[in-house]
Amino acid sequence: MVFNLKKDFPIFTSGELKDKVYLDSAATSQKPKIVIESLIDFYQNYNSNVHRGIYDIAEKASSKYEEARDKVAKFINAESLSEVIFTSGTTEGINFVVDAWARRKLSPGDEIIITQAEHHANLLPWQRLAKELNLTLKYIKLDLDDFTLKWDGLITSKTKIVSVSVCSNVLGPIWKNGINEIKALIEDAHKVGAKIVLDAAQSVPNAVIDVQMLGADFVAFSGHKMLGPTGVGVLYIKKDLHDQLEPYQVGGSMVYSAVFDKSIWKESPYKYEAGTTPIAEVIALGTAVDYLNKIDFKELAKFESYLCGKLIDGLEQIPEVEIFGNRDLIRDYGHLVSFVVKNIHAHDIAAHLNTNDICIRVGHHCAQPLHVLLGAEATARASFYLYNEEQDVDRLLKFLPEAIKYFKR
Ligand code: PLP
Repeated sequence: MVFNLKKDFPIFTSGELKDKVYLDSAATSQKPKIVIESLIDFYQNYNSNVHRGIYDIAEKASSKYEEARDKVAKFINAESLSEVIFTSGTTEGINFVVDAWARRKLSPGDEIIITQAEHHANLLPWQRLAKELNLTLKYIKLDLDDFTLKWDGLITSKTKIVSVSVCSNVLGPIWKNGINEIKALIEDAHKVGAKIVLDAAQSVPNAVIDVQMLGADFVAFSGHKMLGPTGVGVLYIKKDLHDQLEPYQVGGSMVYSAVFDKSIWKESPYKYEAGTTPIAEVIALGTAVDYLNKIDFKELAKFESYLCGKLIDGLEQIPEVEIFGNRDLIRDYGHLVSFVVKNIHAHDIAAHLNTNDICIRVGHHCAQPLHVLLGAEATARASFYLYNEEQDVDRLLKFLPEAIKYFKR
């Protein structure tokens, strides 16, 4: 089984990954040629600011920028273009919600619910806000037997925000019933009037998200994990909230009028995009979406989970290896596998694999509290995307035992 797409990615055909195995797409994906060309085209041919100038290239830049918004809106099935806000990434998207919504709407004693499996991007902003405003931060517990989350009884009338990852960057799938469980969580949160924030950094690139089907209030994701450039991301904000949600930042280009003692904001999305945004990156993200639109996401999920299953099969043959995550769910629809090798530091394993041209990620993956729960200071993670091949797994499984042998000497 193979998608055979490496040919579209210059880093694999002529760049430094030509003869290497890249298993770190959960950190950042590689970029197809058309995305790189889109960046070059902007700077080489029509570089200008957007929504300001009236000369030809400024009009062209503005219309390409808005085309990208349209592509992203269709990709996530947003009801309106006004719901798609360009940010610098998932981190900024969540900080946006924390500062512009939660900081203004929550009062001491109110509850925020997140999970024990969050990336720091969806933990630290809430932790800080809870301390500052005297809020209660509650955690949906991770069941360490099956690596899934259960929120039964946690949502109360005091719950004002529920903010969760759709897919963990360490464990992969964490919701037993997948997206249906996220939908049920959203419904439960809405029953008590709480708003729901989805950290979709790991899910949009591999499984997309239908925001209307889910009914989430806020959804944050990053362009660089879905074939787009760094420095750009998306915050989906449900239309119903626009009247109640103040801008996160204020400044250039987001007002209808400003006089010395007051200003009137534009409508969304413009009121939420103050200053000069990452224009080239937004346009190139639109190109990445064009590329992704040619991919059958059901086939992609099958392909990635097949590679995960093959890796798990191999890892299970190595007695020193302990795998984290729900293996059944990963075999079903995962795109990454995390593991440790007993008595050998994950960094040593990764360094040794690197000498054999294999790039994997090691560390706490910006999920330190989760690693404390797992009892691992660091884990090794292999993550897959549409350009990976079966041989990549074979190579990892060939050289991992060699690394273990080397460090056990
Ligand atoms: N949330 C999850 C689940 C992630 O995996 C990441 C990045 O790895 C982030 C948030 C933060 O994304 P970014 O660094 O692009 O803002």
